[in-house]
Amino acid sequence: MKKLFLSLAILALAVAACQTNDEVTPNQEAAVDMSDFFVYTSDDLSAKSTKESNNGDKCHSMQVLNRQLQENPGLEQRMYEIEKHTRTLIANKGVVATGKPGGTTPPPTTPYVGAISIPVIVNIIEHPSHPVTQAHIDSQIAILNQDFNNQNPKTTGVPGLFAGLVANVQITYTLAGVNKRLSTKTAWGTRDAMKSASKGGINATDPANNLNIWVCEIGGGILGYAQFPGGTLATDGVVIGSDYFGENTAGGVYGHGRTATHEVGHWLNLRHIWGDGGCSVDDYVLDTPTSDGPNYGCPTYPTVRCSSTDMTMNYMDYTYDDCMYMFSNGQNDRMRTIFAAGGSRESLVN
Ligand SMILES: [Zn+2]
Repeated sequence: MKKLFLSLAILALAVAACQTNDEVTPNQEAAVDMSDFFVYTSDDLSAKSTKESNNGDKCHSMQVLNRQLQENPGLEQRMYEIEKHTRTLIANKGVVATGKPGGTTPPPTTPYVGAISIPVIVNIIEHPSHPVTQAHIDSQIAILNQDFNNQNPKTTGVPGLFAGLVANVQITYTLAGVNKRLSTKTAWGTRDAMKSASKGGINATDPANNLNIWVCEIGGGILGYAQFPGGTLATDGVVIGSDYFGENTAGGVYGHGRTATHEVGHWLNLRHIWGDGGCSVDDYVLDTPTSDGPNYGCPTYPTVRCSSTDMTMNYMDYTYDDCMYMFSNGQNDRMRTIFAAGGSRESLVN
């Protein structure tokens, strides 16, 4: 039997060697390593941060994900499949680049190419003391369009180290509808009650074909949270605290609409830029530096952690709104995989 196994092993190696040298075929996609994939994270992010200890979590997307993973037994597997698809499509870019030209076989699928337009439904559960106006709505849509089309005026401040990594994501957001309901509730929390009419909130509008944004009083100092691709459709979208929605004087340093940019980044499958773990934990993006925790405030450049300079101006960090002004090319690739054939948000472009 040993001999048979050895023969089979040699045969397998020979086949693998042949495939490596072959022209690209539709069935030949790049192999990906999934060994570092994880979904559960510790709730105590501040314990991992060596510089800051009492700034708390502005964004509760990872905590909400932990809850959803416990409540939804199939979610972890779905997120694994989405991640595998994402990594395969990004790796396929290399396969296409090195494939022989002039072949008749179609190339393997890569991240979606071209401009993307996403209709937005804004669901406002309005507290009388925290009014949400049309100006807030319009400015928020404008800010999303700036940030996802590399038009944030602050982007000129990106340091030389990262200047070549600034992405034009080319996603346009258009206001498709506004729903409003009044409520005196001061803390909706993060258990998605605002997404349910029967719980006093507003049901999602056709979430397979729209980005739903809920605006309400979340409470607990939380600015917002998002649901990652793969979750239940009825709760799909992002939640933003009333004071942090659009250009909003009530939001102070977080009153310039970047909470929505950050949360929509999660909705498009971006992780926090530090990877929600220590130096060895990645955000699954190749061109973002390794870090071991969020940065707060408006950091002085350079901020060095894990022996490299942090991209503190990235939208997926925790800095003030005016101090975040870029997505990276790697993040752009990652977001675009979910719109490609077989992607979890493919329906938004078809
Ligand atoms: Zn976040």
